[in-house]
Amino acid sequence: MTAILLDGNATSKAIRAEIARDTARLTAATGVVPKLAAILAGDDPASATYVQMKARASAKAGIESVTYPITNDAPESEVRHRLAQLNADPTVHGILIQHPLPKHMDEPSILSDLSAEKDVDGIAPISLGRLVAGLDSFHSCTPEGMIELLKRYNLPIAGKHAVVVGRSVILGKPLALLLLAENATVTICHSRTPNLAEITRQADILCAAVGRPELIKGDMIKPGAVVLDAGYNKVEGRAKDVGDVEFESALQVASAITPVPGGVGPMTIAMLLRNTLTAAARAAGFSLEPETV
Ligand code: NAP
Repeated sequence: MTAILLDGNATSKAIRAEIARDTARLTAATGVVPKLAAILAGDDPASATYVQMKARASAKAGIESVTYPITNDAPESEVRHRLAQLNADPTVHGILIQHPLPKHMDEPSILSDLSAEKDVDGIAPISLGRLVAGLDSFHSCTPEGMIELLKRYNLPIAGKHAVVVGRSVILGKPLALLLLAENATVTICHSRTPNLAEITRQADILCAAVGRPELIKGDMIKPGAVVLDAGYNKVEGRAKDVGDVEFESALQVASAITPVPGGVGPMTIAMLLRNTLTAAARAAGFSLEPETV
C-alpha cells in the first residue's frame, strides 16, 4: 500500500482564498477590515520568522496586521500594558502573543489576561477551558488545522480510534479534545507511556505531536491508518526538517499521511486567519454564512 498525501499547502491555499473572499464581503458590507495584532517579545529568530509569515499571509487575505516588538530584557509589565491596550482597542479583532515569551515572564498568567473574543490563537486558558466544557471558543490553530485537513479530505473521524502522541497545552491536549468533539475514541500517549508501539498500532487515526525526529516508524502504524504528523524537527546533516514520523516507512503502511514539510504546518496560519476573520465578523455583527437566495 502507498498512502495518499494530505497536501497541507494546497488545502491551506484553498482555505486562504475562501478567507480572502469572505474578508472582502465583510469589508464591502460593513467597512470593517479585520485586524490581527501580534506581540513579539524576545529575540527568538524562529518567532520573528513566524510572525513575518503570518503578516504576509494576512495581507494576502485582506487582513491588516501589526506587530509590536518588545525587547528580550523588557519587564513583563510592558507586555501586559500592550495587551491591555490591544484588548481595549475596538479596531483590533485578533491578538497573537507569539510563543515563547522571554523566560522571566509568566506566560500562563499573561495569557490569562487575553480577551477570549480576541484569542484567535486559541491558547488562552479561557479558550482551552471553554473547549473542555464544550462551549464555543477559538481553537488552538495547529490542532484545528489537523482536524480541518481530515475534513477537507473527507476522512471520517466519528467512531474511529484516534491516538495522539504528545500532550502539550497548545497541541496534543486540544487535539485530543477536538477529536473527541468529533466523536472519535481518543487515546493520549506521552513520554511516560510504556509500550508506545502497542498503542499506536491500534490507531485508525494516528497523530504525532511529539518533537522527536522520526519516533514513529512504519511498523508502529496499523495498515490503512491515517497519519497526521505535526512534528517539525531540525536534524544535523539533513537538508530538510523532518517530522515525528519516519515518512518513507510510514508511506508503505498508512492509507493517508501528511508530509513534512507541507502537511500540518501550512494549516496553522490558515486557521489563524480564519479565526481573525470570524472575530472581526462577530464584532461587526456580520454573518459569514453564504447568502441563500
Ligand atoms: P512539547 O511541548 O515539547 O510536547 C511534546 C510532547 O511529546 C509532550 O507531551 C511529551 O510528553 C511527548 N513526548 C516526548 N517524548 C516522547 C516519547 N518518546 N514518547 C511519547 N511521547 C513523548 O512539543 P509541542 O509544542 O507539542 O510540539 C510538538 C511538535 O510539533 C514539535 O516538533 C513542534 O515543532 C511541532 N509543532 C508544529 C506546529 C506547526 O506545524 N504549526 C505547531 C506547534 C508545534 P510529556 O508531556 O510526558 O513530557
